Amino acid sequence: MNKGNLISGLLDSKARPGANRCLRVLPPLPGLSIPRAMYRLTPRAMDLRPCRGFVMSVLILLATGCPSPTTSDKPTNPFRDLPAIGFSASPKDVTEDIVPLGELAAGDEIVVEVIGQRIEAVLLLAGDSEFDNAGRIAGGGSPNRSLVFRIVEAARYFVYIQFDPRLATFQRRAQIVVTRGDSEAQPPPRQSVIIRFADGWLSEPGLWDEEDGTGDEQALLEDITEVVRAGIMERLGAIFDGAPDKTPIDIVDERDPLPSGLYSTVTFSPRRVTVLDHQRECTGQLPPDIALPTVSSSMAGLSDECRAPVVFGEVLECGGRPDAGNRVLDDEAVVYVGSFQGRGENCRFAVINSVNNVILALARTAAHEIGHLVGLYHVPLTDIMERAPTLSFQRELDFNRGQIVLDRGRPLQTSEVDNVINGGLEVLFEPVVLTTIIQDPEFYFRIIFSGTR
Ligand SMILES: [Zn+2]
Repeated sequence: MNKGNLISGLLDSKARPGANRCLRVLPPLPGLSIPRAMYRLTPRAMDLRPCRGFVMSVLILLATGCPSPTTSDKPTNPFRDLPAIGFSASPKDVTEDIVPLGELAAGDEIVVEVIGQRIEAVLLLAGDSEFDNAGRIAGGGSPNRSLVFRIVEAARYFVYIQFDPRLATFQRRAQIVVTRGDSEAQPPPRQSVIIRFADGWLSEPGLWDEEDGTGDEQALLEDITEVVRAGIMERLGAIFDGAPDKTPIDIVDERDPLPSGLYSTVTFSPRRVTVLDHQRECTGQLPPDIALPTVSSSMAGLSDECRAPVVFGEVLECGGRPDAGNRVLDDEAVVYVGSFQGRGENCRFAVINSVNNVILALARTAAHEIGHLVGLYHVPLTDIMERAPTLSFQRELDFNRGQIVLDRGRPLQTSEVDNVINGGLEVLFEPVVLTTIIQDPEFYFRIIFSGTR
């Protein structure tokens, strides 16, 4: 039986440098422990201007790869170089994905509408205190609707238009309308999240291997269900409520009285959901929170038959995106407990060998989905918002400041699913690290729960 550390590895979902593209290479941001290679692929980096002088560039490329921008060919830094767009009820065409709004004071209210197709989200960015070529997420929402933002902290502000990352720069088309608002709208100061546990969530099948598991093993899982449940609630409480005002997110046990206002829900489901299952049930993009149950380095003996990629959790319906700016106060997510167990004697993981590991993994996955429910994106760090949920078997994690990761994923062909192992999954996701967009959960929580709506 191949046990060992349960799912001890994780998919290496780190972005790969776009080695063959002609990219602007932005300088690394000090203080963020990310390999330099991860700074390369950004929406701005896709700009081809550094390759001006096509013939020359080709020659240089053939010899050395992409040329470094020189001082005479310095790329525009939209956070510093572009003028503020100004307030006007008339739509203005934009082709850049960063639109400066200028200095805004605490208490100002602005209304932003970004109009266009193939736009996934609209983010409000505050000028970063440390870097002049990046902005911190200070709110967000959907395109093609009016978004009211109430400014909480004086700063220079920007709109980031999150185009479908598969679009080339020249394909981006949008219009923006920015006006002053006077509604004095206020968001709820906190977000409640109810944690639900579906019947049989840990044992039917949950962590029970339906193919080769014994009745005793299933009975053991039934026996420890309450212990694991209590552990998960305790861990979620520590992540979100641990210190006074650690986050504005209240974790509520479904057995306790329900909050009076709107609330989000995270459900622990007993299901095991493979990517193939997901593909049958949901058409469209690859679900964001999938990973392999192993990595080759730590479980090299695990045969390919055991490497079916599974979905550990998702925002409903069907692999939903982060709720930018926490606009939806009653959204839902799910953790597929069954996905944490392999099938068949050869593929089973030692999950029931450590109750603590089970608690860490499941609680961390729920915390990750809650992060998406309030608008957090993936980050390329060892962090709760890192894509693969399995790091939690090694240690406890937190929400940290980092650049965000988007996927240029594409729908998975059924014929590909069985072949998606290790690198294949990364190719399908094509993760893109946005060097210019900083997710700072502490700042974000402080701002969106007191200012934007
Ligand atoms: Zn995720």
